[in-house]
Amino acid sequence: MRTLVDRLVAQQQLTDEELRQLLLCQDVGVNRYLRQQAQAVRQRVYGRDVYIRGLIEFTNYCRNNCYYCGIRAGNSFAQRYRLSNADILTCCQQGYQLGFRTFVLQGGEDPYFTDARMLEIISAIKSAYPDCALTLSIGERSFASYKAFFDAGADRYLLRHETACPAHYARLHPPQLQLSARKQCLYDLKRIGFQVGCGFMVGSPYQTIDTLIMDLRFIKEFQPHMVGLGPFIPHQNTPFRDFPAGSISLSLKLLCIIRLLLPHVLLPATTALGTLDKQGREEGILSGANVIMPNLSPAQVRGKYLLYDNKAFTGDEAAEGLQHIQQQLNNIGYHVVIDRGDCIGA
Ligand code: SAM
Repeated sequence: MRTLVDRLVAQQQLTDEELRQLLLCQDVGVNRYLRQQAQAVRQRVYGRDVYIRGLIEFTNYCRNNCYYCGIRAGNSFAQRYRLSNADILTCCQQGYQLGFRTFVLQGGEDPYFTDARMLEIISAIKSAYPDCALTLSIGERSFASYKAFFDAGADRYLLRHETACPAHYARLHPPQLQLSARKQCLYDLKRIGFQVGCGFMVGSPYQTIDTLIMDLRFIKEFQPHMVGLGPFIPHQNTPFRDFPAGSISLSLKLLCIIRLLLPHVLLPATTALGTLDKQGREEGILSGANVIMPNLSPAQVRGKYLLYDNKAFTGDEAAEGLQHIQQQLNNIGYHVVIDRGDCIGA
């Protein structure tokens, strides 16, 4: 098994059968070795730097009804909110003072935020903070919309593919949502010139080793700049309320494998990891992750962007939250850097 890990390091590739063996392997020594190799590769490319992204969850309205998601349109218990442009700019201002040089605007697919409204926000942020990168994560849009966002200055786009298996995709989403459309968006974004992130939940209902292998294959072929990956966590007001949460150890193992498949990729230790396990973020960093996305949203709305139950959020001011993260990272020998944090080699 160690030979498999060595080959993954040397060739950044394994066959489907080898990936299966590695994913199923329960040997503690092999899994520890995999993690050591992922850390070594991460340190070779990114040193002990951790990039921070200021996450601004600017709307929890969504027109979609993904079966797993707490802000789905059908959840009538969700307390909906939208941030104003002024609120968003205040978040950026606070973040900038704290050292954030990337802002991530994330939200549901909210029809209120037309292209014109998004362009206004993008231009305002980019003219106030020209040295910062702006990432959008607002779901599926047309090629023309994405192009307009890019031309207005948006740099990066996060759009998890959710699963690379069409049959699995159909069990996670209503029929209006199709994997082919999601993938087309990813290809469009890349063609336009965005730094693009795909990704998936670990342990989503009906996920199997085969669908995971398809995810890894898709990621390797697509060559994203970023991969967002975290455990599925059920939300009480969704059709998937009774499914168990995804496994932390499998999530960490997948982080290791992705780091070795794509040594330069930007890999966040996600909030979902931190929600299921107090040490989740640190464990993520020790498994090859190199990005953390602290929440810059105003404290009064943080408890409303609830994709899943018990989401880790604090009423802390952003500054206190960041200090806490810096301390946690220092404890494991890593440090936050003030930098846009672009994908090296992109
Ligand atoms: N609307 C945008 C989109 O579709 O990409 C961005 C917001 S969406 C809520 C962000 C991500 O949250 C999704 O891609 C999904 O993987 C993740 N997510 C949603 N519900 C989740 C859950 N119950 N557990 C873990 N992650 C979840």
